[in-house]
Amino acid sequence: MESDPNHLRDPYKPDADDGGEPPDLECAICFCQFNNVFNTPKVLECKHTFCLECLARMNVKSTHPNTIQCPLCRAYTPLPDLGLPKLANDSTVLSYLPAAMQHVYSIRFNRNKGKLQVKRVPSSAPAQNVSQSLDVGNPAGEEGESGSARERSVLITILRTPLCKAFIMSSVAIMTVILVITIILILRSAG
Ligand SMILES: [Zn+2]
Ligand SMILES: [Zn+2]
Repeated sequence: MESDPNHLRDPYKPDADDGGEPPDLECAICFCQFNNVFNTPKVLECKHTFCLECLARMNVKSTHPNTIQCPLCRAYTPLPDLGLPKLANDSTVLSYLPAAMQHVYSIRFNRNKGKLQVKRVPSSAPAQNVSQSLDVGNPAGEEGESGSARERSVLITILRTPLCKAFIMSSVAIMTVILVITIILILRSAG
C-alpha cells in the first residue's frame, strides 16, 4: 500500500513506470478520456478503474445505493460514508494526465437528483471552461410515481423534437390552405 491518493508523479522515481505499460487513460465503460472533473479516475476495491460519471450513473440506477458492483468482475465495493466522490482516485492514471489536470476538482454527488456538481475548484486550476453540474440520470424507481414522471419527460422530449414540431407546423399549414380553398369554392358556387 504505497499508493498515496495525493501522490504526484516524480520523474526521478525509478518505479514511476513499473510494469512498463502505461495505464488505460480511457474509461472502459464510456471510452471518455479521464480528467480531473466529472471523469476523474476512481479505483474500486477490485483495482478496476472507472470514471466518476459512470460510477454515478450506475449508482443512481442501482437498487443497492451503498455499494458499487464492478461491471468487469462483479465484485462489490462499499461506498465511502462521505459519498461516491470520496472513492480513491487512481493515482497512477492521474499521474499520466496533463499537468493542468493533476489537481482533482471537489465534486458533490446528489443521488436523489441524479446530479454531479462542482463543489470547489482547485486553487491551482487554470481557468477552464468546466460546466458546474452534470445529470447522471434519475434514481432507480422507488415508487410508481417515477414511472409517470418518466412518461411525462418522454412526452416533453417528443414535443421538443424539432422533427415533430416541423410536422405539426406543416400539418397546420396544410389544414389552413385546405380551409381557404374550401371557403373560396363555397363563395364561388354561391355567387
Ligand atoms: Zn466512464
Ligand atoms: Zn473489478
